[in-house]
Amino acid sequence: MLDTLRRIIQEVNSAKNLDQALLIIVARVRKAINADVCSVYLSDDTQKKHVLMATEGLNIEAVGKVRLDFKHGLVGLVGERAEPINLEDAPSHTRYHYFPESGEEKFHGFLGVPIIHHRRVLGVLVVQQKKKQRFDEENLTLLITIAAQLAGAMAHADASGEIDRLLGQHETTRDARPLLGVPGAPGVVLGSAVVIYPPADLESVPNRKAKDIEGELTLFRNALAAVKQDILTLSARVQDLLPAEDRALFDAYSLMLDSDTLVNATEDRIRNNNWAQGALRETILEHVKVFEAMEDTYLSERADDVYDLGRRILVYLQKSNHRVIDYPHDTVLVGEEIAASMLAEVPSDRLKGVISVKGSRTSHVSILARALGIPSVMGVIDLPVGRVDGSRVIADGYSGFVYISPSDTVCNEYKRLIREEAELSDELKALRNLPAETQDGLHIPLYANTGLLSDITPSLNSGAEGIGLYRTEFPFMIRQQFPGEEDQYRIYRKVVEDFAPRPVTLRTLDIGGDKSLPYFPIKEDNPFLGWRGIRITLDHPEIFLVQARAMIRASAGLNNLKILLPMISDIKELNEAMLLIQRAYAELREENDQLVIPEVGVMVEVPSAVYQIEKLARAAAFISIGTNDLTQYLLAVDRNNSRVADLYDSLHPSVLMAVQQVVKGAHAQGKPVSVCGEMAGDPAAAILLLGMGVDSLSMSASSLARVKWVIRNMTRQRASSILDEVLEMDDAKLIRLRLNSALNEAGLGGLIRAGR
Ligand code: PEP
Ligand code: MG
Repeated sequence: MLDTLRRIIQEVNSAKNLDQALLIIVARVRKAINADVCSVYLSDDTQKKHVLMATEGLNIEAVGKVRLDFKHGLVGLVGERAEPINLEDAPSHTRYHYFPESGEEKFHGFLGVPIIHHRRVLGVLVVQQKKKQRFDEENLTLLITIAAQLAGAMAHADASGEIDRLLGQHETTRDARPLLGVPGAPGVVLGSAVVIYPPADLESVPNRKAKDIEGELTLFRNALAAVKQDILTLSARVQDLLPAEDRALFDAYSLMLDSDTLVNATEDRIRNNNWAQGALRETILEHVKVFEAMEDTYLSERADDVYDLGRRILVYLQKSNHRVIDYPHDTVLVGEEIAASMLAEVPSDRLKGVISVKGSRTSHVSILARALGIPSVMGVIDLPVGRVDGSRVIADGYSGFVYISPSDTVCNEYKRLIREEAELSDELKALRNLPAETQDGLHIPLYANTGLLSDITPSLNSGAEGIGLYRTEFPFMIRQQFPGEEDQYRIYRKVVEDFAPRPVTLRTLDIGGDKSLPYFPIKEDNPFLGWRGIRITLDHPEIFLVQARAMIRASAGLNNLKILLPMISDIKELNEAMLLIQRAYAELREENDQLVIPEVGVMVEVPSAVYQIEKLARAAAFISIGTNDLTQYLLAVDRNNSRVADLYDSLHPSVLMAVQQVVKGAHAQGKPVSVCGEMAGDPAAAILLLGMGVDSLSMSASSLARVKWVIRNMTRQRASSILDEVLEMDDAKLIRLRLNSALNEAGLGGLIRAGR
C-alpha cells in the first residue's frame, strides 16, 4: 500500500496544474482501492456549494454541473463534520441526495474524506461502490493520506487563483479572500514584488519573464558547456581512483547533458518566455519526479543525479547572470525565508515592504523591518513564491493580509489607507519633542532598541530618551572573525557618545538560537534550547572579557553606559558574569583610575528567571524583560515557526502574569524594570505594561511615536483598571480585542489598523 501511495503522490506532484492532478487522483485512487467511483469535490465558499470537479465512474458530463449545497447530501455532511463518513448503504441515509445527472443510483458503499488545510475544508474526496459494503480500514487510511497531501496542493492553487478559475469565479471573489500571514511590522504597502532566494537552491528559483530570449538561451548553453567541462575534468581526476563501474556515473552525466529531454525541454521553456533559471528548474524537477516514480530502485535513485546536475547548471547560470537587481522604487521583498542580510542589500529608499513564507513577528527580520519603519507580513504559508515575481502586491502589516495582483477596487481602497497612514505619521512626528507622560503626570521614559542596523540615526531622530537595548551581535555577524577590543570599543564609543548624557544599555553577545556567526558555526537540533547567549560567553571568557573591556572603556568620562546580560537562567550565571565584569574593570583601572564600573542588569527572558526574580533583582542594578524569548519559552512556541505563529502571543494570560510577577518582584527589591521585547512597541500591550507599573519601555525607533501617543492619552489609573479587567480574561485574542476597543475609545484607532 505504501508503494501505491508513494506512486500516486509522485504522479500528482508532477502534474502541470490542479486540474490534471485531480484527474490523476480519481483515476489512480479508483484503481488502487478497486472502487467503482472516485470523485473530487471542491468547496466554493462564496456560493456555499461543493462542486464536482473530477470523477471516474460517474457521468463525466456532470463535472462542473453537480453543485451540492453545503447543507445537502452526504458530501455536504463530510464537509460539515470535517471528518470521514463511511457507509454501507448510502441511499438509505437521511442526508443522501440523488443527482440524476450523475447516474448515482447504482452505488451503495460510500466513503467521503474531507480535504482540509489549516482547519479549512477545501473539498471532499469520495469513493463509491455498487456493493452494499463499507470500505475497509486500509482504504480509509489511504484516502485520508491522499486527501492530506492534496490539501497542500489545493491551498497553493487557491492562493494563485487557480481554484477560482476552475470554479469559474470572477477576480473580485479572489480579492475577498486574501492570503493570510502574521502581522510583522505595522504599516501598509502597495508595491512591486521582488522575489529573493538563496543561491544554488533549485527549488526556490522563481519563474520570471525572459527579457532577452536569445540571451537566456546563450546563457543556458554556456552553463551546459561549463558543466560538461567540469564533468570531464572530474572524470579524468578520478580515472585511477575509481573502478570503471563507478566512473560510469560521469558518462551518465555527460549523456544527460546532451539529452534532448533536458536540453530541448529547457530551451522550449525559455522560448515560451521563462528565463533560463526558471526553465531549468521546471525541467529538472519534472525529470526528478519521473525518475523517482520508477519502480526499479537503481533508476529511481538516479533522481538524485538529475537534481545534482540541475544544481550544477544553476550555479553557472547564477554566476553569469549574477543580477545586479534593478530594485524598483516600490520594492516589496518576497521570499521563502528572508534573512536580515537580504534586507540590507536593497537600497533603503527603495525597500517598502517585506513578505515572507517563514518567520513571525519576533523574527529578527521583522524586528529589522520595524526598525526601518516598513510594513512586513510573515508566515504567509500559502504564498506561491515562484509565481509572484514582478506582480503588484499589497502587504497589510496590521491584519497580516497579502493580496497578489489585486483588482483596481482593492488597490484604490489601499491607496486611500496609505494616504491616511502618511497623514497619521506626520501627526505622530509632531510628538517627537513632547514628553512621554500620562494625562495624570506619570513620566515613562521611552528608549530605542538598536544594533541590528549599524546606523543609529533613526534612533537619534525618534526622540528616544536613550538606548534601552543595543544588540551587539551585528558587528560580530558581518565580520570574518571575532572583532577585537579596539574594533568593538570604536563601535560602542560612538553610540555612547552620540546619546550622552542619555543612557545606553549594551547587551553582551547573544549568539546562538537564530543568530549564527559564519566563523563560529554551532550545529544543534534545538538551537533555541541550546548553547546560546550567556551560556556561550561564560564558556568562552576570552570573548566575554574582551567585550566587557571594550564596553567599560567606551563609557569613560560619560558614564551613561549600562551592561545587560541575555538568557540568564539562574543566579550562578549572573554571579559568574558579574565576576568577569569586575575582573575586566579591575584590569582597566590599573591603566585609568577614572573609569567607573557600569551598572549591570539582567534580561528576564527564560521562565526560570521569573521564579527567581527577587534574588536576581537583589544582585542586579536593573531588570529588562525580553518578552520575545519569554513568550516563546513560556508558551513552547518557536518564535520563528510560521506554522505555530498564531499561537505565539505576548498577550497570552500566562505571559501577562509572568511579566507582572517580574515587575512586582523587582520593585520589592527596589530595582527598576524595563521591557525591551517587541511587546513594548505594541500600542495595545503598552497599556498593560503601563498598568503594571513598568518603569520604562524600549522599542524599535519606528514604534516610539505610536506608543508615546498611547501614553499621552492614558492615565495610570485607566491603564490599571484595563489591566485588572484583562487579567480576568483567558484568551489572548479576546484580550487583544478588549485593548483595541480601549484604543478606539481613546481616539487612537489608527494604531491598530490601516488608515486612521
Ligand atoms: C527578547 O527576547 O525579547 C529580546 C529583546 O531579545 P532578542 O529579540 O534579541 O532575542
Ligand atoms: Mg531574547
